[in-house]
Amino acid sequence: MFWIRTIIGSNHKYSDEEYFRLIKHELAHVLSSNLSDANSELDRNSRSLGPCWLWEGVSVYLAGQIFDENIKLHSFLEYYDKFGPGVYAEGGIAVKYLVEKHGKAKLLALIKSMKDVKSEDEFKKLFKRIYGFELEYRNFTNTDSVQQKERKPK
Ligand SMILES: [Zn+2]
Repeated sequence: MFWIRTIIGSNHKYSDEEYFRLIKHELAHVLSSNLSDANSELDRNSRSLGPCWLWEGVSVYLAGQIFDENIKLHSFLEYYDKFGPGVYAEGGIAVKYLVEKHGKAKLLALIKSMKDVKSEDEFKKLFKRIYGFELEYRNFTNTDSVQQKERKPK
């Protein structure tokens, strides 16, 4: 339902490209929601909302809404069952990292297993089981773009 507020509740005039990205973003929510088997409202209500950063990150990544790849990831993990500034930009980069470094199959496995997850703690355990490393910022900083940027003299 977020998209209704996004589109109607805003005076921002969208360019065709922005509008297209917005639609892709929302379609990606539908897709990941279906993959995670949260098909009915009843299902959805009985589960935890989170991880918000993952859901928004998947949509941001698939919709091509990452505009700065070099921002430092330092807050997205705070957004498990709430929304905030770190959810979109950082979530998108975190998901991009997971896909590019570890492949689509693991991300799909993670999303598909979300139907059994009832808490943040369970999500962390599931994440570790699938990826083989802890869900911590330091495990997301090893991207080529970040390394190159750090190596470059100022
Ligand atoms: Zn969204």
